[in-house]
Amino acid sequence: MTHPLFDIGGRTALVTGSSRGIGLALARGLAEAGCTVVLNGRDPDRLAEAAARLPGKAVHTAAFDVTDGPSVAAGIADVEERVGPLDILVNNAGMQLRSPLLEFTDSDWHRILDTNLTSAFLVGREAARGMTARGHGKIVNICSLQSEVARPGIAPYAATKGALKMLTKGMCADWGPHGVQVNGLGPGYIETELTQPLVDEPEFSAWVRRRTPAGRWGRTEDLVGGVLFLASPAADFVSGQILYVDGGMTSVL
Ligand code: NDP
Repeated sequence: MTHPLFDIGGRTALVTGSSRGIGLALARGLAEAGCTVVLNGRDPDRLAEAAARLPGKAVHTAAFDVTDGPSVAAGIADVEERVGPLDILVNNAGMQLRSPLLEFTDSDWHRILDTNLTSAFLVGREAARGMTARGHGKIVNICSLQSEVARPGIAPYAATKGALKMLTKGMCADWGPHGVQVNGLGPGYIETELTQPLVDEPEFSAWVRRRTPAGRWGRTEDLVGGVLFLASPAADFVSGQILYVDGGMTSVL
């Protein structure tokens, strides 16, 4: 039996960027915990394929680009009309661009900022309109180990994730008085499409294993428990925090 503090059955959850990778694993976890889940990404066909792989019937899809304000506003309104009021939002959509900072172009800078940071503001704001009016809601922003530390070649990514940490705290300050808790979850190195080039680099891959106290790369399933906790009544008095799920790496880097 689920302890009532961890019971999130019947809640409605939107996970952005859930056509694959971490987002899909988090959506699966929420569905297994009894939530009605809405998958998001840019490609409707890819979303339909992802939805078919999730358990239960309470899985919906909403294709919209999280970087585009009008699409986000229309997308959230459509989800709330079609599926129901949102109780849980996981801002997960993100991207990575690796390049020496001197070679980083203006357009790549804006693209990574829009995808990793502006998206959380846009989707968070639209979802929080209803949540604050109803007096309850949980938002989890997927931050990163790089919210705390930078590495060569990913300064813009680290800048977005560091700022997302502070956006999380700001959202907590603004929406906490209206019953909405906002937290971040910071994954360490997790094997997904985004990190595949690193996984395939033997030296880097070994460095990750050596520098992670847990001695291995993370799996997408490693992140599910943290999100379920932050989305549950057990976290009703937890807000503005970043929970690092990184096999201990943030503590030793
Ligand atoms: P993937 O590249 O595997 O997946 C990214 C997801 O984001 C896809 O579903 C993609 O969907 C979606 N997406 C990208 N851009 C947009 C957009 N403009 N609008 C809507 N959806 C979009 O990445 P991961 O699963 O590895 O990463 C997920 C999150 O976790 C990211 O925020 C990442 O920064 C963070 N993270 C990942 C780590 C890792 O080691 N993997 C470590 C720390 C943090 P589609 O292309 O179908 O539109």
